[in-house]
Amino acid sequence: MEEEKVNPRKKFKFLKDEISSATLEAIKGMGFKIMTDIQAEVLPAALDGLDVVATAKTGSGKTLAFLIPAVETVLKCREKQVQGTSCIIISPTRELAIQTHGVLQELVAHHENITSSLAIGGESRKRQSAELSTGVDIVIATPGRLFDHMRTKEFDYRNVCCLVLDEADKIFQYGFEEDLKQIVNRLPKERQTMLFSATQSERTEALIKSAMKEKVHNINTDED
Ligand code: ADP
Ligand code: MG
Repeated sequence: MEEEKVNPRKKFKFLKDEISSATLEAIKGMGFKIMTDIQAEVLPAALDGLDVVATAKTGSGKTLAFLIPAVETVLKCREKQVQGTSCIIISPTRELAIQTHGVLQELVAHHENITSSLAIGGESRKRQSAELSTGVDIVIATPGRLFDHMRTKEFDYRNVCCLVLDEADKIFQYGFEEDLKQIVNRLPKERQTMLFSATQSERTEALIKSAMKEKVHNINTDED
């Protein structure tokens, strides 16, 4: 009964031509059928390769709104037989990075071999470096440690085609502005960038201008 009333465009199934069947299977396995508002707004644009700025309050489902396109982008990059890491996701804290990595692992459970790795502070650089040197597809990182790895030859980020900034407002609050600038400057210009945040600020505006394409898809589900 309930499902009848749902706008069919809000069902994950609606995106079956844009999302691989292995990813859709995993979403189903998580128990999700209907996209949240932010997912329904972000996914079509992000899966189309557009740069996206999304503002929505905590708990609105932003994680899958960027992880789904990140996974699909990796699959596309692979078709072109690209070497090294394809996607970097930046989180303001280790805890958030670990949590996001957990959701990502669920999301790729039905994919043959999408690899991912954490590059976060407070843990062995050497072990992370060894993992990064294998060319993991998706790296989830905190800014300081990521920048450290970018200054080593082990981490090949020359073919990164997707960058996600999660909780961008907090990345600034925690003082990572300079690291973030350096990271963005070093990444290939030819890439998709997605910025997620619970609040908008002047500093995120400045980052959007410097790090994103001129034509960004701006989505804010908190506004009426
Ligand atoms: P945010 O990053 O916006 O704070 P999260 O991505 O952490 O939000 O998601 C908040 C909660 O909503 C999580 O428990 C997540 O599993 C759940 N969730 C995500 N997408 C959906 C969905 N489409 N339907 C139902 N629950 C969802
Ligand atoms: Mg979040």
